[in-house]
Amino acid sequence: MYPSIEKLKKFFKLEAERGYDNRAVLGGLECMLDTWESEARIDNLPEEIIQAVISRVRDYQRLSPNSREVVLKGIWQRIRQTVPTEEEPMPPQDETTTPQQDVTPVPEKQEKRDQVRVVTPAQTRQPPQTRIPIPQVKDMTEGLDAPISVLSGIGPRSANKLAQLGLNTLGDMLYFFPRRYDDYSQLKTINRLGYGEKVTVIGEIKEIASRPTRNGRLTLTEAIITDGSGVLRATWFNQPWLPKQLKPGQHIVLSGQIDQYLGRLVLTNPEWEPLDRENLHTNRIVPVYPLTAQITQKWLRSKMYEVISYWAERVPDHLSEHLCRDAELVDLSTALLNIHFPNTLDEIKAAQHRLAFDEIFMLQIGVLRQKHEWMSRSARIFTAPEDWLQDQINRLPFQLTPAQQHALADISSDLTSGYPMNRLLQGDVGSGKTVIAALALAIITRVGAQGAFMAPTSILAEQHYASLLNLLAGSQGTLANEEIRLLLGATPEAEKSQIRTGLENGDIKVVVGTHALLQEPVAFTDLQLAIIDEQHRFGVEQRAALRAKGDNPHLMVMTATPIPRSLALTIYGDLDLTIIDELPPSRQEVATYLLLPRERERAYTLIRKQVAEGRQAFIIYPLIEESGKSEVKAATEEYNRLKREVFLQLRIGLLHGRLKPEEKEAVMNRFRSGELQILVSTSVVEVGVDIPNATVMLIEGANRFGLAQLHQFRGRVGRGAEKSYCLLIPETENDADENERLQAMVETNDGFVLAERDLQQRGPGEFLGTRQAGFTNLRMANLTNVHLIEKARHFAQRVFQQDPDLTQPEHHLLAHVLDRFWVESTGEIS
Ligand code: ADP
Ligand code: MG
Repeated sequence: MYPSIEKLKKFFKLEAERGYDNRAVLGGLECMLDTWESEARIDNLPEEIIQAVISRVRDYQRLSPNSREVVLKGIWQRIRQTVPTEEEPMPPQDETTTPQQDVTPVPEKQEKRDQVRVVTPAQTRQPPQTRIPIPQVKDMTEGLDAPISVLSGIGPRSANKLAQLGLNTLGDMLYFFPRRYDDYSQLKTINRLGYGEKVTVIGEIKEIASRPTRNGRLTLTEAIITDGSGVLRATWFNQPWLPKQLKPGQHIVLSGQIDQYLGRLVLTNPEWEPLDRENLHTNRIVPVYPLTAQITQKWLRSKMYEVISYWAERVPDHLSEHLCRDAELVDLSTALLNIHFPNTLDEIKAAQHRLAFDEIFMLQIGVLRQKHEWMSRSARIFTAPEDWLQDQINRLPFQLTPAQQHALADISSDLTSGYPMNRLLQGDVGSGKTVIAALALAIITRVGAQGAFMAPTSILAEQHYASLLNLLAGSQGTLANEEIRLLLGATPEAEKSQIRTGLENGDIKVVVGTHALLQEPVAFTDLQLAIIDEQHRFGVEQRAALRAKGDNPHLMVMTATPIPRSLALTIYGDLDLTIIDELPPSRQEVATYLLLPRERERAYTLIRKQVAEGRQAFIIYPLIEESGKSEVKAATEEYNRLKREVFLQLRIGLLHGRLKPEEKEAVMNRFRSGELQILVSTSVVEVGVDIPNATVMLIEGANRFGLAQLHQFRGRVGRGAEKSYCLLIPETENDADENERLQAMVETNDGFVLAERDLQQRGPGEFLGTRQAGFTNLRMANLTNVHLIEKARHFAQRVFQQDPDLTQPEHHLLAHVLDRFWVESTGEIS
């Protein structure tokens, strides 16, 4: 474990032992922040973690012990999800599956949990769910807050193990959902099997052996299975190790489709697993829970049964009866009972639907509340005279597209509304968002107010700084050069302090920067507009932190990642949305090709040709975790190879995240000026970089990236008037599924289409970015389910309109549950 994390753990533990009295550290927990931050940076912890720790621990002293507990647990949970620690609980091990079967890596894909996921016993090679967070929606009933150790047979040792699963109270158990179900209610005996049927059979192995096939090229394993009613043959191709795993006398569960061979019934290549006798005896649909070491399914199931069968019906429902009726939801007690011990598949489905609805509903009400709260404040009015604004627009080196004009109109109207703007400006890569941000800054600085523009990387911040100097300062600009400044982590201390002074006394009107804007003790005299670029790279806290530097400033966030509708409604539901849905007219579609690794030379030829015509190219290398190599090393090696063996005559540069900021800047500048013809890079150029003369984007290991991300890379070219190319080279030729996925890039240049596909295929991780704080806790709801989201949103709106503060008696319980949901899922203290 990293020393900085070790240290946090020690303090958090001590705090917990002391009942969160804030004495674990002399002078209070917040006193350790300074040293901790520098240690965390030495350990190279992800920035989001560092920020999360700092922003939450800073206010620790003000919190009640209860909230402190929530905050520390929240931080720890986040650390565990982001940084590998030894604390990471073992992947759940099902006693019924062998280790070989359970090693399936957990894909980023979110499981579709609000669809029924029942498997017959032999189809159990599901990826285990990742660790289960503490349930969010709990109950007021005192009894449910009782520690798990009140159950008979649970002493401190078992309690400890259960705590590893997030099970501390009885209430936790109610919300500890099965990861799948085994359906033993539909078993058939061998004598009743028919040709062509998909079946699950339980039987004893009589014989098993492997031999080569006749042509000698394959191995055939054959087993004879009996269950007392008949005999069934099972065959597997090319699994010569099977006889080592399956022995005569052993009972197994097989599942597959019944075939016929020489008049006899056979199962060809069936799925199988050892039989868990206990399942058999239940003869019903049984829940299978995620486990940790030394807990058995059987034991946990019996404890669960003890709790569920008593408590489920005693849990009061936080949704009113008429809401449940109108929304066609089962009541909470039924849902909790049936999610654990269902009788039919339909019962599981209804229970999952209800519990998923609850999660989205809570999110939606929270989002509506945030928006309501925000709208109830007032903000300074900025009216730009018509002809002045037109002058600014006329000064631009190009004409605004209709979509840009529309966006500008939205923003102007926000600025004159008297309420703080809270707008998301979404536009595909290259749609020209920066100039809109510049115009907004011009409007507010015209009357002497200040603006801040924050970007996720220093490369991007520099680029914006250069653009703003161009657009706002200069000969006819509204600002002087020195009124616009750039603040990065790496800015020399003397300059930083100069910038701080300038912001405090109002000499500086616009500051562009990275996270440094938040980290440095920067104070503005009159911050009225905060702009955040590539919003998904920042967390909600950071947005709040920047906003807090002014007095209800207007806020505009921008993103080039097209967000599927279902997500826009949930994640960004508190923001007003403007979409720039057209590209400047000179743009052409980027011609995209999927090349096989052996066709790499074709890519190199294209690059040589383009460079000969005066254009430039990017070559991107991914992180390949299993190679044990860092992204930096991989890119560096390839860079050396390309330089020595492929592009001997050409000028190549290398960019990666380990370079010092000034080195990065130097490389980018050399590429921007055209001195470098080819830029080899890791994924750091993904967002925002604008080099209009670059026309080739070659992406190696393309299969490593999501479509939305590939689309971002592609957006780095095709920004000038020249025809541009995007070449994707996957690592292998024969992964048909993977290549089909990548084929989508060839078929469309539409970011929305790609985003939808990404969401379906890889889950919402790609879109949530660090905003995910409140969303990783969704355990039942599937964020791709537009129907569910719209339904929950509809009812949330209804409740909210009736009773925005949830003070009516029928909403008391809801208000309580909601508070817990939001505190626990975001760590925010309301
Ligand atoms: P993004 O929306 O991806 O942030 P940028 O703001 O970086 O896009 O703009 C991409 C490029 O398009 C820049 O070089 C910018 O100067 C140019 N641009 C912006 N608006 C227009 C327009 N209306 N016509 C032509 N070029 C434009
Ligand atoms: Mg941009």
